[in-house]
Amino acid sequence: MKTVAAELAFFLRGQARKNLKLLIVYCCFLFTMVLVYAMVFRHLMWYLEGREYSIIAGIYWTITVMTTLGFGDITFHSEPGYIFAALVTISGVIFLLILLPFGMISLFIAPWIEERIRYRPPPELPNDMQGHVLIFGIDAVTRALMRKMQGRRMPFVVIAANHDEAYALEAQGLRVLYGIPTDSAFLSGARVAQARYIISNLGDPETINLSLTVRTLCETPIAVIAEEPEHVELLRLAGANQAIPLSRILGRYLAIRATTRGAKAHVLDSFGTLLIAEIPLYGTPFVGRTLEQISLRQQTNLAVIGLWERGVFSIPRRDSLLSEKALMVLAGTQEQLVALERLIDEKSGEDLVFVLGHGRIGCAAASYLDNMGVPFVLVDQQENPHCEEHSAVVGDATSRALLWKSGIARARGLIVTTNDDNSNIFMTLAARHSNSHIRIVARANREENVDQLYAAGADFVVSNASVGASILTNVLENKESIYLSEGIGVFRRPLPPNLAGMRLNEAHIRRQTGCSVVAIENSESAEPLIMPPPETVLEAGSDLILIGSPEQEEDFNRTFR
Ligand code: ADP
Ligand code: ZN
Repeated sequence: MKTVAAELAFFLRGQARKNLKLLIVYCCFLFTMVLVYAMVFRHLMWYLEGREYSIIAGIYWTITVMTTLGFGDITFHSEPGYIFAALVTISGVIFLLILLPFGMISLFIAPWIEERIRYRPPPELPNDMQGHVLIFGIDAVTRALMRKMQGRRMPFVVIAANHDEAYALEAQGLRVLYGIPTDSAFLSGARVAQARYIISNLGDPETINLSLTVRTLCETPIAVIAEEPEHVELLRLAGANQAIPLSRILGRYLAIRATTRGAKAHVLDSFGTLLIAEIPLYGTPFVGRTLEQISLRQQTNLAVIGLWERGVFSIPRRDSLLSEKALMVLAGTQEQLVALERLIDEKSGEDLVFVLGHGRIGCAAASYLDNMGVPFVLVDQQENPHCEEHSAVVGDATSRALLWKSGIARARGLIVTTNDDNSNIFMTLAARHSNSHIRIVARANREENVDQLYAAGADFVVSNASVGASILTNVLENKESIYLSEGIGVFRRPLPPNLAGMRLNEAHIRRQTGCSVVAIENSESAEPLIMPPPETVLEAGSDLILIGSPEQEEDFNRTFR
């Protein structure tokens, strides 16, 4: 659809736009000609032959004659009439059948084809270009990244794999280069040494080649998405500064959110000793009670910093009711999470998780569940040739009978992770329909499908593109930040000097920026102060850990610059 729009955009640019105006004027001229003929036809019919026709009949007669269709249902029976009809036919042939197509071809079709044939994507950047990010490999992840970069006004250049791709990208207003990514002359023309960062999502072998070539030219940092987690080491050896095993991270995110067992294993990420974890409430003794009633703080010292319910994030209040559908975001230390684990494990029953799809991501999720000691059943329509670790039920995961036979009725968690979003939506809907309690975590291959997956009944949706783009943006911004989901994250900022010495409630951080302070890390004390009370005095030199949306984070940066 986007490609069609990009092609149509040609007709609204430059000379084509002027020609379009010409075409409109010509069509007006034709229309007037038809009207005039129709009126003359009416008069002639009346005066010459005494027959009366409406103006609509006149237009109909003119068009059938001008286009040489001539049905013959309305005809003149007098010589002046014949002469008029012949005149209309001849002008129809000239103005409608010859000049119009000729104009269309010479003014629109030919210039459009010519532009496509003549189009040469630029092979190099101007000599003064610097501080740009070079993006190699275009897919959903890098497209989401480009959107984020456009929002942040970060200059970037995308390297297209072929002419058509370059043409389509340029038509979308992106800055494009076309060349062989592993050719040093091309890379020099792309001013790789002056670039701020290089991002590659080309596939591991080509990325390795690219990194090696870049390293012969310059020290510009390189961040890459590793197709296979086992290749991370090789990619680093080849010169990549950051190799992100995206499928393993996605698998882990899915697994973390599909099970309630092992709070330690729910850790998403960390800031030093401060861990951020997410734990689904289903199956825990907390369901149906308020935050105040479960007194998690008193029992474990852990702080609940957020609640997710069906993709909606909220900052919890003391009277927030904990539903079995919700997911708690916790901040605390390793020991505190172990204390929670004991609390939950004492009371919760056995988990069983179904994983539908045994590709790279499904396999990573299964390995993670395995490490946590959670029993699982893998279903895939084919054997995974790269995995010797797991055995999967082979069959179509959209088949209810197959899932039933494999014991899905006993499952408490379901991970839907095929590479086809339509199948994922179908499976989510079918699973929700037959088991209203099962915890469904679904993967969205395309961002557009996140809402449909929630609508189909998923409790949590992880979007490949959003996660990948967020990780890459953090790398580019050199930011320590934890991605919770699209639209929410935890990040660290040094205490703004003008807040030093104030009490937390006097700083009005939430009122001014919308961000909430999750913890304060004081350089002297090793343990972070989690969920600091309002009267905490902010000491100079400490770090704030905050939770908020990217916009709120921007507000924080602006307010406390
Ligand atoms: P990734 O590596 O990103 O996880 P893959 O394309 O390798 O993606 O894996 C997707 C997996 O989903 C494949 O193994 C494919 O066989 C499986 N799959 C797709 N549709 C179905 C289905 N209807 N039933 C079972 N498995 C499916
Ligand atoms: Zn596997």
